Amino acid sequence: MEPKKHEMPVQAPAVRAKNFEEVALGYSEELAVAEAQRCLNCKNKPCVAGCPVNVNIPDFISKIKERDFEGAYGVISASSSLPAVCGRVCPQETQCEQKCTLGIRFEPVAIGRLERFVADLHNQNPSAPVKAAPNGKKVAVVGSGPSGLTCSGDLAKKGYDVTVFEALHTAGGVLVYGIPEFRLPKSIVKKEVETLKALGVKIETNVVIGKTLTVDELFDDGFSAVFIGSGAGLPNFMGIDGEALKGVYSANEFLTRANLMKAYKENSDTPIMKGCRFAVVGGGNVAMDAARTALRLGAEKVYIIYRRSMTELPARREEVEHAEEEGVEFKLLCNPVEILGDGETGFVSGIKLIKMELGEPDARGRRSPVPVKGSEFVLDVESVIISIGTSPNPLIKDTTAGLSVNARGGIIVDENCLTTRAGVYAGGDAVTGAATVISAMGAGKAAAKAIDEYLSQK
Ligand code: FAD
Ligand code: SF4
Repeated sequence: MEPKKHEMPVQAPAVRAKNFEEVALGYSEELAVAEAQRCLNCKNKPCVAGCPVNVNIPDFISKIKERDFEGAYGVISASSSLPAVCGRVCPQETQCEQKCTLGIRFEPVAIGRLERFVADLHNQNPSAPVKAAPNGKKVAVVGSGPSGLTCSGDLAKKGYDVTVFEALHTAGGVLVYGIPEFRLPKSIVKKEVETLKALGVKIETNVVIGKTLTVDELFDDGFSAVFIGSGAGLPNFMGIDGEALKGVYSANEFLTRANLMKAYKENSDTPIMKGCRFAVVGGGNVAMDAARTALRLGAEKVYIIYRRSMTELPARREEVEHAEEEGVEFKLLCNPVEILGDGETGFVSGIKLIKMELGEPDARGRRSPVPVKGSEFVLDVESVIISIGTSPNPLIKDTTAGLSVNARGGIIVDENCLTTRAGVYAGGDAVTGAATVISAMGAGKAAAKAIDEYLSQK
């Protein structure tokens, strides 16, 4: 028994820090089969319970052992509609791999890497999807992120006439505007969207529900049910002095400019700060993506500012290690108190930080950071990216009578994803606040099932 996962080849840090190509290069067939052979095919399948959409993991791994890769794809795609995406970005270490029996004594099976291998191989030669016979019922889906894409795909497979309304000019949600190319190539998302279109799903971009059209108008237009998968794209700010200075971005804005508006391409006319010193405030995956994007845009220096220690830092370990290897410097136990301007041009000239120490654990058991009096110091930077979380946008709630939200702006739903308004379902980040791709997909799937039941009874 190999005690460790088979390593996946990656681009060398010094090379990848200067390009936007994918960092991890994926398993070869031999590596995938060797890794699959580590799986014990446990009878009680603990890994399956750790997967939010319950992919039959031992079954697909057994098929890899037999070199039946298309069979393995069939097992995964019975539960997950975006395997090439999930194989890359799911936090497996806290889900399926955390539950893996092998992990008790050794490293768990590299389930995510195997999923990615199977999906990539399938996508090299995909079979045409089979269109279902139309059932004459129309469903509107708001938002084309993983929740909306999954919901629309599942409904289209049952014969519904589905239209996705997307505010941006490209479909994919965070998968295209947030997660950078070097972690998730956009060609993969494009392929998933093309598959949906081949199933008959219509995608209308540049339509903002709540502005261009309201939910009520969708019903007036003949849609019998609506799914809201509008995400949580409204950035939070700190409320400190200097946040309106030039050179301050929310992580979402910075990443959207870089990814969706292609600021990373030579000759791009999308304005973005590059080549200077950056402070990225926050310790989540989004902060890591922003820092590593700034680096690839040619930053002279990139700091991550995080108010707790490395132990509490919430980003995936792999992303933290990659960021460190690429040269991002972590300023831990530090919190911004003010962003400083140069006075004349209105641009950022520095960020004032205060040192923190860890006090008593809070309600969630995380030790609270406490400022150390008189410990302020200034870091010279020309750009600051704030990455301290996002919230659901209130636009749809404000324009849809009968739709209730909780104190954090999340749409209130029951166990079937039904909102407080009849015929209106919701799921993903719009309900939970910022979460994960797989949980958004799980919600899209559950909502599609509930919508089908509702419309079949109607
Ligand atoms: P979204 O993906 O946010 O999609 C919502 C869509 O709705 C958007 O396209 C938006 O433009 C559209 N929309 C919003 N309002 C309207 C409207 N009024 N009318 C029409 N359209 C509208 N998760 C992971 O599991 N792993 C990761 O590695 C990871 N990395 C991340 C990195 C970044 C930078 C970010 C921002 C998030 C990351 N996440 C990651 C989180 C994950 O991407 C989200 O949880 C997931 O995309 C949520 O899916 P969703 O369908 O709910 O919403
Ligand atoms: Fe294989 Fe681990 Fe799942 Fe057991 S728990 S079946 S070893 S992946």
